[in-house]
Amino acid sequence: MSTTDVAADLHRALRERGQRATPQRLMIASTVSSLPGHATAEQIHGAVAERMPGVSLPTVYATLELLGELGLVRRLASPAGSAVYDPRTETHHHLVCRGCGRIADVDGVVDDAAILRAARRAGFVPDDAQLVVHGRCADCRAAGAGAAAA
Ligand SMILES: [Zn+2]
Ligand SMILES: [Zn+2]
Repeated sequence: MSTTDVAADLHRALRERGQRATPQRLMIASTVSSLPGHATAEQIHGAVAERMPGVSLPTVYATLELLGELGLVRRLASPAGSAVYDPRTETHHHLVCRGCGRIADVDGVVDDAAILRAARRAGFVPDDAQLVVHGRCADCRAAGAGAAAA
């Protein structure tokens, strides 16, 4: 489990850029790293509001965007359509359940060199590549087969 302190990293990165680390930004960053991961901006906003009332959803969005730019969180598309934010930034892959929408980390070595070469040949500059495995999680399978929602 990654225990990177996103708030401390944010503080350092902003200082290097000559920008101010506001208490709101730091609170949002530390909330992202304290959640189990793969939370939506709305979920992060809810958790932040419990600790620091008055932080607006647009501030949460803007800070998550900034954290993404700085490489301190990864932004993933969730099957529900909204983005989720992952404080674990080292290379890993994801399992996405079609039943409950849960997103879980999965580790394993993927040889993506050929894909990245093809991407570069197409004039693309890749900065992140990951495998998303779609299917049904153990809980959903246990809850009953028949109700597939693919
Ligand atoms: Zn599931
Ligand atoms: Zn993850």
